[in-house]
Amino acid sequence: MRALTFQAPGEVRLEEVAEPRLSDPADAIVRVESSGVCGSDLHIYHGRVWIEPGFVLGHELVGTVLEVGDDVRSVKPGDRVLSCFHTACGTCFYCLRGEYHHCAHGRTFGHGKALGDLPGAQAEQVLVPNADMTLRVVPEGVADELALFAGDVMGTGFHAIDSGGVRPGDSVAVLGLGPVGLCAVQAARAAGAAAVFAIDSVPERLDVARSFGAVALHLEEGDVKQEVRDSTGGRGPDVVVDAVGHPDALELALFLARPGATVSAVGVYAERAEVHLGLAWIKGITLRTGLANVIAHVDRVLAMITHGVLDPSPLVTHHMSLEEAPEAYAIFDRREALKIILKP
Ligand code: NAD
Ligand code: ZN
Ligand code: ZN
Repeated sequence: MRALTFQAPGEVRLEEVAEPRLSDPADAIVRVESSGVCGSDLHIYHGRVWIEPGFVLGHELVGTVLEVGDDVRSVKPGDRVLSCFHTACGTCFYCLRGEYHHCAHGRTFGHGKALGDLPGAQAEQVLVPNADMTLRVVPEGVADELALFAGDVMGTGFHAIDSGGVRPGDSVAVLGLGPVGLCAVQAARAAGAAAVFAIDSVPERLDVARSFGAVALHLEEGDVKQEVRDSTGGRGPDVVVDAVGHPDALELALFLARPGATVSAVGVYAERAEVHLGLAWIKGITLRTGLANVIAHVDRVLAMITHGVLDPSPLVTHHMSLEEAPEAYAIFDRREALKIILKP
């Protein structure tokens, strides 16, 4: 089958690889019908997150179940399903506490040997371990490209707001308006946030945030810090989301946040980085980081998408074929696209 592989920083390639085979009774094999290109794929593309050359990329998918192992109960061949971006066993110390993102046996699609050696979804077929935990049937009437958001991007935006503890009437700032940040803007609104400040430097992305009801602020135009402070009674937002994954953004988040606020950093950090920890300390900031617990949220997020409470459709800017995937990475890297859907 054909699959997109990482070759070297800046180089991904469509290659012929072996089709997946069931290796455990809890596995399923899914024919991929839509997959997404994500900011997390860009970290790999940039060589910041290292994976083995030749490894199959991608972790966002919707498709049809082709085959299931004997232990799989919740899906069957022919079902249209979406997948969460990582797997969980359901029985370890962490899973029994609902911390599926910390599962002792969790594996992330398309992230190399270090994150579970699980080939990715930018391919014609994909092996899905622990299918009962990882897959959900797509409700009737929900388009593939919208369902796909429940397993990662909207799930992660929702997680940022949930782990930030946003309550009705709160003020929220979201730094970084890629697909994840824009989903966090929607999730903040859905959680009842009174004011949402959306910060980035890409005009098209600011426009989308504005259309979602946020106050859009250009990072390099005007005085973002002053504008946010003036609009929050001189204090700063109750919750700040870092949907970037760069120390400049995290430091700005710590600066903007009011004393006692929560900073929810869903942007990926893979290395040692320097921020002004004194800011966090003196304000008594709660810092939340790490992988999003998408398995915990997927049913809620899917229900909210199904009923239009969350609507990722404005984020889908491009549909491309798997053959065009190298071009898709380049376009997304230039921030000329939001969500690109690849169809094998
Ligand atoms: P993206 O690359 O499309 O978006 C990042 C945005 O941040 C861009 O619009 C960019 O202009 C903006 N930006 C850069 N520096 C900034 C700064 N200093 N201040 C404000 N904005 C700045 O990526 P995405 O797909 O939206 O993903 C966002 C982040 O979330 C990535 O780091 C991705 O890896 C991560 N992510 C994490 C999880 C998780 O489980 N925690 C899941 C999915 C994605
Ligand atoms: Zn993703
Ligand atoms: Zn587990």
